[in-house]
Amino acid sequence: MSRPTQAIIDLEALRSNYRLADSLAPQSQSIAVVKANAYGHGAVPCAKALEPIVPAFAVASIDEAIELREGGIRKPILLLEGPFSFGEVQIASEHEFWLMIENHNHLAFIEQCEHKKLICKPLKCWLKMDSGMHRLGFMPFEIAAIYQKLKSTSIVHDEIVVATHFATADVEGDAFVKEQIDCFNEAISGLGCLTSLCNSAGVMAWPQAHGSWNRPGFMLYGASPFELPQHNDKTLQSVMTLQSKVISVRNVKKGEAVGYGKTWIAQRDSRIATVTVGYGDGYPRHAKNGTPILVNNQRCKLAGRVSMDMITVDVTDVGSVNIGDDVICWGKDLPINEVAHYSGTIGYELMTRMPLRPSRIYI
Ligand code: PLP
Repeated sequence: MSRPTQAIIDLEALRSNYRLADSLAPQSQSIAVVKANAYGHGAVPCAKALEPIVPAFAVASIDEAIELREGGIRKPILLLEGPFSFGEVQIASEHEFWLMIENHNHLAFIEQCEHKKLICKPLKCWLKMDSGMHRLGFMPFEIAAIYQKLKSTSIVHDEIVVATHFATADVEGDAFVKEQIDCFNEAISGLGCLTSLCNSAGVMAWPQAHGSWNRPGFMLYGASPFELPQHNDKTLQSVMTLQSKVISVRNVKKGEAVGYGKTWIAQRDSRIATVTVGYGDGYPRHAKNGTPILVNNQRCKLAGRVSMDMITVDVTDVGSVNIGDDVICWGKDLPINEVAHYSGTIGYELMTRMPLRPSRIYI
């Protein structure tokens, strides 16, 4: 029998979360963000499950887009990080990858392709504006001119989406989001362009920012993008369940320590279950003593440091626990954000850092 540490991926939950994202923004089209191996869930299987119901996908880079094409995905794919050479512009046109044009190098690559007559199919371009996040994009005052320039480029498709990204959409009612929306609207005023502003938090909490296209990612995988719980995040369904099994059980006496560094000391006579999942399986090394975990569907607490292949859990209060019993590290009844909170990180990081070691079981 193989090691029982597995990531169960519920593709119907993925589709249901996508439908929710789409229904929250009835005037917008929703692009499914499947970058970073679909946030650790497996890019090709997730994209295949979504393809019949989504108009397009988004990934970070051309390598991720090629992986999807080689996996049989035919819908358009937006590259969120623009081309790194004019060769990539050519590949994009051949494969129907949409480019996010966000700096002058990107414009130069397109010009090069135009002069060398390297493009046969028109390029679909999105134009990124820096409305305040100060990470990527042209400044608002440049947008109108660059938009017109791109529009008049013979190899660029006429329909250009102007996009921006929020820095604080996960904070309800945040004034800076409003500033970014105003800045964006002012910069595009009179252009009559298509628009895209919202990630998951934008889709769920900022309806006034829903554009021609939204770009939900994290919420598709069933986790809430908000720092504080929001009214509509309860309807999301967790897609990944990281599950494992108890492989050893022992009693420790009050005052004895458990695990590397002796960081957990029994405050009473205790029962400890050892579970075959560790940081080599994506369980966070920094999870603190007390991090919640489900053993036989009952909440227990992590006791001792996370090892590469194992963790130890205090099961003193949950009745009989035996070798072979079921453990859930996160999933339907234990939100990944909660485990992330105890590890000083966010659910996004736990998902995307999932190594390939736990086999993915698609249901
Ligand atoms: N759009 C852009 C430009 C992004 O960089 C990301 C993710 O980082 C997303 C959309 C999706 O964001 P989220 O996963 O919060 O929905």
